[in-house]
Amino acid sequence: MDKKFETNAIRTQLERTENLEHSVPIYLTSSFVFEDAEDMRASFAEEKNRNIYSRYSNPNTSEFIEKVCQMEGAEAGFAFASGMSAVFSTFAALLNSGDHIVSARSVFGSTHSLFMNFFPKWNIDHSYFKVDEVENIEKLIRPNTKILYVETPTNPGVDVLDMEALADIAKKHDLIFIVDNCFASPYLQQPIQFGADLVIHSGTKLMDGQGRVLAGVTVGSAELIDKIYRFSRITGPALSPFNAWVLSKSLETLAVRVDRHCDNALKLAEYLERHEKVNWVKYPFLKSHPQYEIAKKQMKAGGCVVAFEVKGGLEAGQRFFDAIKMLSLSANLGDTRSIVTHPASTTHSKLTVKERAETGITDGMVRVSVGLEHIDDIIGDVGQALG
Ligand SMILES: *Cc1c(COP(=O)(O)O)cnc(C)c1O
Repeated sequence: MDKKFETNAIRTQLERTENLEHSVPIYLTSSFVFEDAEDMRASFAEEKNRNIYSRYSNPNTSEFIEKVCQMEGAEAGFAFASGMSAVFSTFAALLNSGDHIVSARSVFGSTHSLFMNFFPKWNIDHSYFKVDEVENIEKLIRPNTKILYVETPTNPGVDVLDMEALADIAKKHDLIFIVDNCFASPYLQQPIQFGADLVIHSGTKLMDGQGRVLAGVTVGSAELIDKIYRFSRITGPALSPFNAWVLSKSLETLAVRVDRHCDNALKLAEYLERHEKVNWVKYPFLKSHPQYEIAKKQMKAGGCVVAFEVKGGLEAGQRFFDAIKMLSLSANLGDTRSIVTHPASTTHSKLTVKERAETGITDGMVRVSVGLEHIDDIIGDVGQALG
């Protein structure tokens, strides 16, 4: 019988060793041994499906990938040392010089830098569309367009894109549709169900959920993953077995953690919506969110990130940050600890005011990654800082 999400997350594990351990051991080994010359030959010829070297595969990494594949409904996957190595390796494995990417403008800052500053070196070009201009996408597609790329919800504006509509466009033009699902986690939405070919995660965020390790993973069709695997086993962005072990354990509690993250985030968003010093609040599961209906269609709950604007612009924004006592001023998200960031002066400070406006960032905008502290204490700290 098919098991449920939570059960698979907990009960998927490597075959036990002769020690009959309950919790999976860590395989901190760079290589694996062969029985004899014939075993070695057959292993390298890929006639056998076995571990050879941890740059290619490792038991802990395989367990982590297997869990993510089950969660996302994917055939295969590869795990990376960080979310950005997953993003880079996925593009690099699938694209040739002269290819073109169509992407939403609101993407993670380092992904934007990759498109702007590095891909042009290999003659790979991109075109951006605004998240509220999905109807313009087809005008951007060229004969050399290979990939349609989005994040949903977006960072830091928490806009939501209609994955089903995007998948239709991708199919019509024979594009590979890739979704960075980091903000939602596989618990809240499974892009493959809506037509995505590949799903990328930064495991650093909700998957680890406790701010400890960096990781990334790409899952999807076996055919595409094989290309990514062939590129990655040569270029070496593999996830460390130790971090894979940490993450596989973390996935056991993903569902309960993310449920609470979402409960807390919705309560904070509702509180901020009523607050007189707040101009606007954006959270996918608030009725006032511009893509509320799409969010309801494709997400189980709204996620851990709430964006809002303090009245009074940049100065009021900075006063708010100086008054925060408990919440961390940090660049991470999806942690047990609630985190506040000011995109205009930090993560997006290198953008021009116009570029920031295009990604939905205003001077007084605050991004909160709502953690697992008691909601009364989270609201208490945000409330006193607004006061
Ligand atoms: C953090 C993040 C990444 C990059 O992940 P790292 O693990 O920091 O390399 C990519 N995409 C999104 C949406 C992210 O939030």
